[in-house]
Amino acid sequence: MQGLAIRLTGLRKSYGRTEAVAGVDLEIADGEFFSMLGPSGSGKTTVLRMIAGFEPPTAGTVELAGRDVTRLAPFERDVHTVFQDYALFPHMTIEQNVAYSLKVRGVTRAERLVRARAALAQVRLDGLGRRRPAELSGGQRQRVALARALVGRPRVLLLDEPLGALDLKLREQMQVELKALQREVGITFVFVTHDQEEALTMSDRIAVFHQGRIAQTGTPAEIYERPATPFVAGFVGTSNLLSGDAARRVVGAPGTYSIRPEKIRITTEGKPTAGAGRAVGTVAEVVYLGDATRFLVDLDGGGRLTAVRQNLTDSSADLAALRGTRVGLQWDPRHAVLVPDAP
Ligand code: ADP
Ligand code: MG
Repeated sequence: MQGLAIRLTGLRKSYGRTEAVAGVDLEIADGEFFSMLGPSGSGKTTVLRMIAGFEPPTAGTVELAGRDVTRLAPFERDVHTVFQDYALFPHMTIEQNVAYSLKVRGVTRAERLVRARAALAQVRLDGLGRRRPAELSGGQRQRVALARALVGRPRVLLLDEPLGALDLKLREQMQVELKALQREVGITFVFVTHDQEEALTMSDRIAVFHQGRIAQTGTPAEIYERPATPFVAGFVGTSNLLSGDAARRVVGAPGTYSIRPEKIRITTEGKPTAGAGRAVGTVAEVVYLGDATRFLVDLDGGGRLTAVRQNLTDSSADLAALRGTRVGLQWDPRHAVLVPDAP
C-alpha cells in the first residue's frame, strides 16, 4: 500500500448561509492522479483552497503525508497550486518566473538557473527561457505555470481547471502531456475540472462533487459503469435512465437503472434476440455525430433510451431516414445497472 498524500476528514466551509463544502471525507494516495469533478458551484475550488491553506475550514481537518496542517499557512505546506489564469509575472522572463520561488527560498543563483532550465525542459519549453509571458501562446504560458510548480519539487500539485482557457484541440493535447508529465515526475496531482471527459481520460481516481459533497469516489470505469447516484449517472456520460413503470416493464424490476448508450444495440429488422435485455420503440431523433450516430428512441408504453451506433457503412441520409421508424433495442442484462437513489 502506498503512503497517504492527503486525508480530508469532515471538511466543511460556510460563507454566511452558503454551505460551499458540506462535509467531505477523502483519502488520496501518494503518486495518484486524482480529479475532483463536478458542475460549477459544487465546492471543488473551495476544497482545493482548503488543502492549499488559502481558506480556513469551518470544520474538519486537512492532513498532508500524515501531518495535520489544518492550521498551517500555505507556505508551510508541501503543496503548490496552479491557477486557471496562470498568474505569471509579466515583467519577468520565463526563466525568472520559473526560478522565482527558489529565489525567495534562498537557493543560489547558479542552482536556480540549472533547476529552472531543467523544469522548462520537462514541459518542453527549452530555449524559450529569455522570453516574456506576453511573447508566448496560451498553451506555452500554461506550461510555464507547470514548470514553475515543478521547480520547487512539491509533494502535491493542486491544479484548478488549468486547461479551461485553452481551445479544444490544444486542451486534448495538454491532457495527454499533463498525464505523461505526472507519470514521469511521480508527484500527486489533484486536478479540478467540470469536464467529465477530461476527468475520465486523465485520472487514476475521481471524486464526483454535487452540492458541496462527494457523490461518488472511484476509478473512471467504476464511476462510468457503476454510477452510485442518479446525479452521477447523468453528469458523467449521457444520461440514460429507466425508472418507475418503464423500469418495471423493461428491466423487470423496480428501481432506477442506467444503461450506457454504447451498450445498446439497435436493430431495424426482426425481433431482438430472446433472453437479452430488450425493448421496442419508435425513433424520435437521429443525431449524426460524424464517427457515430445517436438514436433517441421512445419506448412502447413509456420511457426513452438513447443508443449510439458507430457509422461503419451507413450514410447520413440512410440514418436520417430512420426517424419515425420502429426499432428493436437490445443489451446484455449486465449493462442495466441499478442506480441507488440519492440519500
Ligand atoms: P466550484 O469550484 O465547484 O465551481 P466553488 O468552490 O468555487 O465551486 O464554490 C462553491 C459555492 O461556494 C458556490 O455557491 C460559491 O458561490 C460559494 N463561494 C465560494 N467562494 C465564496 C466566497 N469567497 N464567498 C462567498 N461564497 C463563496
Ligand atoms: Mg472552481
